[in-house]
Amino acid sequence: MKIQYINELLDIPELKTHQILSIDRDELHIETLPLSDKQCCPICKSDQNVIRKGSNSMRTVQHLPVFEKKTYQHVPSIRMYCIACEIGFVWVYAFVGPKQRYSKLFRSHTIEQTLGSTATHSSRMHQVPASTVQRMHNEAVPAEYERIYEQVWGEAKEAENLVLGIDDFASKKGHTYNTGIHNLRGETMLDLLPGRKLEDLRTYVKENPSFLLLTPKAVIMDLAQAYHTWVSECFPNAIRIADRFHVHGYVIESVQEVRKSVQRTLSPLAKAYLKAGHRLLNPPVETLGEER
Ligand SMILES: [Zn+2]
Repeated sequence: MKIQYINELLDIPELKTHQILSIDRDELHIETLPLSDKQCCPICKSDQNVIRKGSNSMRTVQHLPVFEKKTYQHVPSIRMYCIACEIGFVWVYAFVGPKQRYSKLFRSHTIEQTLGSTATHSSRMHQVPASTVQRMHNEAVPAEYERIYEQVWGEAKEAENLVLGIDDFASKKGHTYNTGIHNLRGETMLDLLPGRKLEDLRTYVKENPSFLLLTPKAVIMDLAQAYHTWVSECFPNAIRIADRFHVHGYVIESVQEVRKSVQRTLSPLAKAYLKAGHRLLNPPVETLGEER
């Protein structure tokens, strides 16, 4: 294969392929060199007085696979010296972080895949140890969290007709409750706060005043008084909607109460008939056949 095509395949603009060192069934090793001749001194930011002072040993950097072969770049660790500033420094490559063994693209692809699957899967796909994938992933999570957080809050703040969903859920087997805040139309989770009591909710707003920058048209939640009080404090203009699931539960409960009170006034036969059919009041309409 012509070297020019290899350069295009690698797609690292700062490098040019010097030679293919080896190629076999699983691995491709390529020696690459920087395109430019010297780099600017980190102190004076100029390459005017920079000279090259040879190279340390080669760096081996794993890059994205080519035709499913593991691909390694062998790049020189070039030593340079600025005569004006009297300091030595080594070549900085844009495609790989200092002292890293995997290129930035390799890392981001691996991480991207891990976010959508498991470390084991990504490890198999990229033929790197699962522990390495796990480490890359863990290193990426804080930045990824930050990025997603910014993104979903930005969307929610700008959304017209924002509809929020507030719901509690149990953790630690029902011993603690947390509250999730969702942008229902955007299908994103905005935040997760500890607790579900009014004081927990008020504390959250004190610590996260940007919550009040949201302008929801409606907020959907269950019938818990704390949520209704809190939401009416934060968003007095928003319509508060009790979600269907909870309302349905309460309606069924009330209808059954009515049935029981009516049942008591009936003859034994009618009483038994009504009691036998009590389940008919429970199921949602779409699960009922015409006859039922
Ligand atoms: Zn300098």
